[in-house]
Amino acid sequence: MKQRILIVSNRLPASAKRRGEDKWSLDISAGGLVSALLGVKDVDAKWIGWAGLYVPDEVGRRSLTEALAEKGCIPVFLDEDTMNQYYNGYCNSILWPLWHYLTLPQEDRVTTTRNYESQFDAYKRVNQMFADILFQHYQEGDVIWIHDFHLMFLPKYLKDHDINMKVGWFHHSPFPSSEIYRMLPSRLELLRAVLCSDIVGFHTYDFARHFVSACTGMLGLEGTPEGVEDQGRLTRVVAFPIGMDSDRFRQALELPEVKRHISELSQRFAGRKVILGVDRLDIIKGIPQKILAFEKFLEENPDWSDKVVLLQIAVPTRTAVPEYQKLTSQVHEIVGRINGRFGTLTAVPIHHLDQSIDFHALCALYAVSDVALITSLRDGMNLVSYEYVACQESKKGVLILSENFGDFDMWLAAEHGMFLRPTHGQWMTTMPEHLNMDWVESVKKEPPDLILNTVKHHLHGITTVDVVQGSRTVEVRS
Ligand code: UDP
Repeated sequence: MKQRILIVSNRLPASAKRRGEDKWSLDISAGGLVSALLGVKDVDAKWIGWAGLYVPDEVGRRSLTEALAEKGCIPVFLDEDTMNQYYNGYCNSILWPLWHYLTLPQEDRVTTTRNYESQFDAYKRVNQMFADILFQHYQEGDVIWIHDFHLMFLPKYLKDHDINMKVGWFHHSPFPSSEIYRMLPSRLELLRAVLCSDIVGFHTYDFARHFVSACTGMLGLEGTPEGVEDQGRLTRVVAFPIGMDSDRFRQALELPEVKRHISELSQRFAGRKVILGVDRLDIIKGIPQKILAFEKFLEENPDWSDKVVLLQIAVPTRTAVPEYQKLTSQVHEIVGRINGRFGTLTAVPIHHLDQSIDFHALCALYAVSDVALITSLRDGMNLVSYEYVACQESKKGVLILSENFGDFDMWLAAEHGMFLRPTHGQWMTTMPEHLNMDWVESVKKEPPDLILNTVKHHLHGITTVDVVQGSRTVEVRS
């Protein structure tokens, strides 16, 4: 019998649309976590989370639960007010900026302070609702795999109920230095709750180290090479760099539909270098900085203006959060200004899409682009960079990454000889100098060994890791 595993995340991977009183259509939705977990095989997995919409009536809830059960999904029903407080409030306005070292402007800090208590209460309430659903579906021997910072209290609620449950919690964002983490009022409660897990995972050794330092420094617990110990009870803390199913992308490139897309795009942008950005329109992704850097490049290299195009896919996200609404208007304003300034009657330098695109179109874009430009100010483990590399076997384009995120992808890309990294200073200020097409061409010919060494050095401390590298799985041992 296959091992049963209960995957728990804020959102289910399925998007539901109501087609009648008790009729639903379901779509498997895209996103980093979904892409990563599509690669997990050979287990009997059930997925527990919010279905992405409000269902107030009993008939709707029952019929949606039945429809989702066919896809191995179990819904947790949340109402709009709770979602506002828990998700838009505590998760996205307080925790998310903190993980990414973003401190709030004064005006927002005051609003946050006013709402803090009620948002934190809603956060705990939702975690308890998830626990209650899990109790209904748990069978002895199940492994419970909790994803992300939306559910930091869940390990505690589960273990309080049954100490023998096997519980793992994985953090998909950076875990910041404890100097930043200590700014959070509920820092101690959250750490204690997470430590109820049997194992706690992070993308990188650095994130794991920050977590252990927070536990030792703030809770006075003992950090060991294995994890964190509290009166003889060990919580293992481990770095598990996330991967993706690279075969899925490489096989997609062989499909007639994707080949047709590739040929259309190649014709459309013939004679121009294509720079690609694919991001959620998130405050951490550095999208305004990327576009402003591109403007500076055009300003300093006027002869390039009709020879290069920036294609930016900016998938809308967290649209109910004011900070994200501001970001959307800001990006639109900058794109409009630059296109007005450098465009011609027949061409514009920036193609900006406020929408997601389907998987086949995305693969084609990855395949035809000369450069993927990823400028996150901070990021967990950016999968777009992996996906670009997986689709570039024949073109051998260049991946440009900002410095401040999970460093495993740097290694992956470096192995392919397609990796560039600013050598000094802040990405935001130095990037225009680096966005230089001659330089891009020269690096394509000469993979930077130095970077490979840097990244290998970062890997020190991870004992065994399986990495998807191109079509192969590589085992890395320190
Ligand atoms: N993605 C998608 N459709 C789009 C744009 C992006 O399915 O139109 C996927 C992309 O393939 C990637 C994920 O969204 O797997 C983004 O993951 P990443 O780790 O780069 O960033 P996150 O959104 O998790 O912060």
